[in-house]
Amino acid sequence: MLRLYNTLSRKIEEIAPSDGREFKIYNCGPTVYDYAHIGNLRTFTLQDLLNRYLRFHGFRVKLVMNVTDVDDKTIKRSAERGLPLNEFTSKYAQEFLKDLDALGILRPDKLVYATQEIPEMVKIISALIDKGFAYKATDGVYFDIKKSGDYGKLSKLKLKKLKSGVRLNVDSYEKNTASDFALWKAWQESDGSVFWSAPFGKGRPGWHIECSAMSLKHLGKVIDIHGGGVDLVFPHHENEIAQSESFTGSPVVRHWFHSNHLIVEGRKMSKSLGNYYTLRDLSGYSARALRLLFFSAHYRDELDFSLVSLANAEKTIKGFDEFVQKLSACKASGGTLEAGQLVKEAEEVFGGSLDDDLGTPKMLAGLHGFFRDANKLIDSGKVTLGGAKEILSFLERINSVLGVFRFDFSDKLSKEEEKLVSMREKARKEKDYKKSDELRQRLLKEHKIQLDDTAGGFRWKRI
Ligand code: AMP
Ligand code: ZN
Repeated sequence: MLRLYNTLSRKIEEIAPSDGREFKIYNCGPTVYDYAHIGNLRTFTLQDLLNRYLRFHGFRVKLVMNVTDVDDKTIKRSAERGLPLNEFTSKYAQEFLKDLDALGILRPDKLVYATQEIPEMVKIISALIDKGFAYKATDGVYFDIKKSGDYGKLSKLKLKKLKSGVRLNVDSYEKNTASDFALWKAWQESDGSVFWSAPFGKGRPGWHIECSAMSLKHLGKVIDIHGGGVDLVFPHHENEIAQSESFTGSPVVRHWFHSNHLIVEGRKMSKSLGNYYTLRDLSGYSARALRLLFFSAHYRDELDFSLVSLANAEKTIKGFDEFVQKLSACKASGGTLEAGQLVKEAEEVFGGSLDDDLGTPKMLAGLHGFFRDANKLIDSGKVTLGGAKEILSFLERINSVLGVFRFDFSDKLSKEEEKLVSMREKARKEKDYKKSDELRQRLLKEHKIQLDDTAGGFRWKRI
């Protein structure tokens, strides 16, 4: 059974769906004011790992993710670009979906946009005012954290440190400034045409109420797992708990799943520090290598990103591919005993490591050991056709979780690809390296075809 660390209890706990059938998962999605960076994508890939692993275990999963398409950042950036909010955010929402596809992340079962759920938010805010948890001020409606008996339980804040009666009208702030937070922000000039009418005045929702409203509406009052990066523990998830539980009167989220940051030279990868890469910047590397790199550290540990580590992951992927290709050359007849035994042991290590709080480093170490032993067996001619099939079928099974193996190496180039390859070859022969490089990048980016020049000419491969 899968055991997973719960940020709320600070313990590793067994997880099971509350209704015994289907895991209800809510993951905080992107704020669509720019392309997602690979730090964001690390978090989404690790959430995808959990989603895929639960399915691998045979569970049904309903995964809801939101898109924050209205908040301080989206309004500010769209105004700077002179674009209507919706036009501005929809471009980045589309790009986000492309990134999910490129990285092999399963699309959520339901993707919900904040701007389409405003009535639900208004309903909850009205109820919180009626129940005495929220109050109106000149610049909006605020949640009164002193009214929520256990405010701070997720981030372990001590109540006496809270600033009573101090209000904060920004979406994000530090623990030491914990104070009443905005559920609804009254319209101000800088919001331009971004506002909705509500019984408590025209304005727009605060960031935190968006996720409370969307998760309650689409998953109900009991959510099995709620995910996000560690930076969301406070204030976002703390405030979400305060809102949702004050509204429903009972605990909503059973298990909080937070993954740690991707860092660069000791600092969190972030837009504000400018130390980030998007997938567009890394088109020379395969998505499989990035996935493998993400799995190389435990999800609760920081992962230090560098291009060198990504290039190393790429080499490992190459080794995986060579291994798979080598298997197809095993044609001998006979029993499958030795290969079968290796698979059995590898499968146990795979399940055992992931069941233990998604221990990906241990799982990968096990996999490397398996490849080493299986390679030896292949080289000594002891892997039969049946044995190779058994190994391939194991890799296919675990690939439904990992998405790092490739099995099809026999494909041909399409007419267009053939044309691009020969144009590039011509440019290279004519020493037009700029053009040759542009064409190489185009093949990689648009067709996922990698060209390698060798002494005997060029080779191409799909990645
Ligand atoms: P955002 O689009 O900023 O709302 O963030 C989307 C997701 O990415 C959230 O779950 C964040 O916690 C997460 N995130 C932001 N920066 C990083 C980072 N450097 N490493 C890992 N996850 C991150
Ligand atoms: Zn959220």
